[in-house]
Amino acid sequence: GHPPLLTRKFQKIQYTGNPSMGENPQGPSIRIMQWNVLADALCQSRDDFIRSPPDSLLWQTRKFRSLEEILTYDPDIICLEEVDHYHDFYNPMLQSIGYQGTFKPKPDSPCVYCLDHNGPDGCALFYKQDKFDMIDGITPNLTIPDVTKGSRTTNQVAIIYTLRCRKKSFEGKSLVVGVTHLKAKNGWQELRHAQGKILLEHLNKQSRGRPIVFCGDFNAESSEPVYSEFQNSNLNLKSTYQLLSENGNTEPEYTTWKIRPSGEAKHTIDYIWHSEDQLTIDALLPIPTDSQLGDERAPSYITSSDHFSLVFDLRFKSSAKGSA
Ligand code: NDP
Ligand code: CA
Repeated sequence: GHPPLLTRKFQKIQYTGNPSMGENPQGPSIRIMQWNVLADALCQSRDDFIRSPPDSLLWQTRKFRSLEEILTYDPDIICLEEVDHYHDFYNPMLQSIGYQGTFKPKPDSPCVYCLDHNGPDGCALFYKQDKFDMIDGITPNLTIPDVTKGSRTTNQVAIIYTLRCRKKSFEGKSLVVGVTHLKAKNGWQELRHAQGKILLEHLNKQSRGRPIVFCGDFNAESSEPVYSEFQNSNLNLKSTYQLLSENGNTEPEYTTWKIRPSGEAKHTIDYIWHSEDQLTIDALLPIPTDSQLGDERAPSYITSSDHFSLVFDLRFKSSAKGSA
């Protein structure tokens, strides 16, 4: 048989210097997962992961490992990118155990140009039906300003939902949750920047002061303008995974690590942003270490995607706005 899935242990966040940062430690928490699950079509025909065991790249091998990873951490809200098996896998599987899902395909997905594809890839958002009610939602194509045409619809999409917590203990608090997958590859920094600005406008409009959690594969290192745009926006967003570091302000060393014929690709490009003034982060799932991953890097039998899932627990601060 193949080796078991890699498992990780949550790291609790200590707010020793500033206890008010970790306010309300008794209340219930909400667990959220962000993950680029790796599209089946891209994995089999485009990505060329030369060090991954060939079997480990087959959808038949990957699909239950991908589901197992989700079920292991049991998130209340799941934000996924590169989903090209929504209708035939993720949605029926997750629906059968109590999740409500939404899928937004890319308008011209690269998956449909691959041999034996399973339709377009896109973003998906799932939430536990017994915990939340959806009170508002948009699934925009990212349309950016264009000097000649006024505006231009790009091939990237997002889902932004406002969820109201059902459990009495959350006192009717609501949360604006979103997911996106920005344009990939070098040479597209300005496009990603423009896409980020549009997303911030959408978030501002949807949130109306309510707390935000926005997840995605931004395809951008933290040195890019799209990152600064989020970091410095007037929405008061903090990059959640900075909290894993000792000083609380440094991104992880990588969120994706793979080997292609062109060499190793090891980058920090996946992020979660949360409203720092209204939400407290309790715990985060660490990124798999170099020695856990081994020479194959990812994907492999022990991890089904070339990106690592980011999972964390949050609580509302007493300052968090209700659903009104
Ligand atoms: P992106 O440029 O955003 O990339 C799509 C995917 O490619 C991402 O999921 C990305 O993964 C992955 N990727 C990034 N780097 C590499 C790499 N070095 N090797 C392989 N895959 C990589 O896609 P767009 O949305 O812009 O879509 C592509 C466009 O290209 C479409 O509009 C389509 O028309 C066109 N196309 C046409 C084809 C044809 O045969 N005519 C074939 C393919 C695409 P990650 O986010 O994990 O980095
Ligand atoms: Ca990819």
